[in-house]
Amino acid sequence: MHKVPFFNYPHVFTAYASEFREAFEEVSKRGAFILQKEVDEFEAALAKQSGSRFALAVANGTDALVLAARAAGLGPGDEAIFCSHTFVATAEAIHLCGARPVPVECGADHLMDAAAVSEAITPKTKAIFVTQLNGRTADMDALGALVEKHKLVLIEDAAQGLGSKFKGKGAGTFGLAGTISFYPAKNLGALGDAGAILTQDEGFYETLRCMRDHGRNREGETVMWGMNSRMDNLQAAFLLKRIAHYDNIVAERRQWASLYQELLGGLSELVLPPPPSDGDHFDVYQNYEIEAERRDELKKHLADNGVGTIVQWGGRAVHQWEKLGLKASLPYTEKLFEKMLMLPMNNSLTREDVTYVCDKVREFYRG
Ligand SMILES: *Cc1c(COP(=O)(O)O)cnc(C)c1O
Repeated sequence: MHKVPFFNYPHVFTAYASEFREAFEEVSKRGAFILQKEVDEFEAALAKQSGSRFALAVANGTDALVLAARAAGLGPGDEAIFCSHTFVATAEAIHLCGARPVPVECGADHLMDAAAVSEAITPKTKAIFVTQLNGRTADMDALGALVEKHKLVLIEDAAQGLGSKFKGKGAGTFGLAGTISFYPAKNLGALGDAGAILTQDEGFYETLRCMRDHGRNREGETVMWGMNSRMDNLQAAFLLKRIAHYDNIVAERRQWASLYQELLGGLSELVLPPPPSDGDHFDVYQNYEIEAERRDELKKHLADNGVGTIVQWGGRAVHQWEKLGLKASLPYTEKLFEKMLMLPMNNSLTREDVTYVCDKVREFYRG
């Protein structure tokens, strides 16, 4: 049987094995493990790739969110609005600052719904955390207008959005801060955990730079409470190798999205993500998240035929994890979680793989 795993972790290494080996040798022989030139060089490359003025390398995408929330001054008594179709980390960052995470609905595009945000704003609302989910940037005109009108802080969880654009502007560069994850399964994957924060504000950047290294400034003086969230220099060296290929990585994913569209677009039982276009949204297809009738049966049929699929976040929106105590009812999002399914979308796929996945989907609905 032909097998198409949902994600091929060894490929994160094997795709550029010789470049990674070279980086490992070179950095290790120098003993250059913490905050060495590779971190600086990767930050510069990331700023260029994302169209950001500043980029700060940190230990992972969750720390990036926590640091951004803390540096933005979020604290007890504040509320921050987030879209419940996201990874728990978005809400976690708000909670860990002592603020209250307020979940809202997503729209038909699976991204934060500006109308829902508008309804959730109260005098206590301090920030909006928008997740640029699945490699697509939300409608930042509508959200930007709300931010301006209510004088809110905008933080983008762009963990899945590197290189994605709305009207030509990069994900992570719209608000006070944008956070990126280099978890191995992300578009730009490290060989372990890593993350980054983008910002256009120099003062905010300097604060974050201190915070990630125990509150120490460039002179080595401890000037605030911080933590250790430095990106390993080895991971920076690996990422520096991979980011040189990033335009190709994205182009390949867009090609798979086009092929999915071509082969599945005619099925009335499915709702597909919009195909690649030159319109307002430049999509980098971190995920290919469809809506499917009889989703669970389809998932099983694909598994029986060697095709791995995933329902994002373990099958529930953040507010549906009862132990977190968020106590919200979001009927649109809850309904969506009964239909959503992610088909394989990664850089180890071949044309044969995608064609096979689509054959099996069509076979399920057409017999
Ligand atoms: C991956 C991810 C994160 C967390 O990033 P880590 O690097 O794993 O800490 C946060 N938010 C979203 C939307 C993600 O997809």
